[in-house]
Amino acid sequence: MRHRETTAPSNPILPVAEQLGHGNGDWPHLSDSSGRTVVQHLMVAVNQPVNQYERACRAWPILTARAATGKTITYGDLAMQLGMHPRPIRFVLGKIQERCLDDKKPPLTILVVNQSGRPGTGFIAWDVENLPEGFKKVFAYPWADDPNPFAFAGDGSTPEALAAHIVRRPQEASAVYGRIQNRGVAQIVFRLALLTAYGQRCTFCGLSIESALEAAHIIPWSQASHADRVLPSNGLLLCATHHALFDSGILTIRRDHKIECRKQALPGHRWNQADRQAVVALHGQTMSPPTDQRHRPSDAAIAHRAKRLRR
Ligand SMILES: [Zn+2]
Repeated sequence: MRHRETTAPSNPILPVAEQLGHGNGDWPHLSDSSGRTVVQHLMVAVNQPVNQYERACRAWPILTARAATGKTITYGDLAMQLGMHPRPIRFVLGKIQERCLDDKKPPLTILVVNQSGRPGTGFIAWDVENLPEGFKKVFAYPWADDPNPFAFAGDGSTPEALAAHIVRRPQEASAVYGRIQNRGVAQIVFRLALLTAYGQRCTFCGLSIESALEAAHIIPWSQASHADRVLPSNGLLLCATHHALFDSGILTIRRDHKIECRKQALPGHRWNQADRQAVVALHGQTMSPPTDQRHRPSDAAIAHRAKRLRR
């Protein structure tokens, strides 16, 4: 997902200088209230990986305020308000666009436009042939009623950092979930935690291609406690195929972590050779559990699922 701006790139140092209140003049030697000079700020920026979530957290209220007043904003203006170069703003807008699509909200990033009043080519959340209708939807939506979905990143946190925290201290999962408060972000964090817990391998077949690995809840999201929505012990890392088979109840796990193929979930199906290889052959095999005992599927989660499947 790309969000490409078309405004001419400007001096990358200017936004930082402007943030410090020095848009012109002898900026490299000027300092802010902490005594840090513009050059020192830039050194910090260069040495730290850029946190697009933190930028999205600051961009969100700027965009929703524009929506409330029925106005657009140019890539250059938004970049200046965020204290960044306009070029990488597409990454920030990509995060916001993804959230709006996932959360089925109006396409907020439609408001970020180039000099001709149109969003850049990275904007895919609405039909660009019918922009007026998209603007209307965004202007009419009560954004003030929704929390900022990137609030978790306000202190510089990232989904990776939250997932690492859960893996290290699973007893604090409920508090971590409380900071997230957004289903899509929680799902990202849950998957990252499972990728670590399972060493990036499908626990059923061993497939290790990360883009094909997904996070499956054992107790489904809607019935899970806050902690169980992000805890590896209520999940399995599965390849896309085995995730679909797990969700449809054709594959499941027992308390001893043996895989069970439930042919009864697919009555009348003619099991061909490929089906037998990828599915039936797993029956009775032991899944590869996480090495850390705390992340193995909990008895409570497995019992909850068994009861649900029996119904
Ligand atoms: Zn698999």
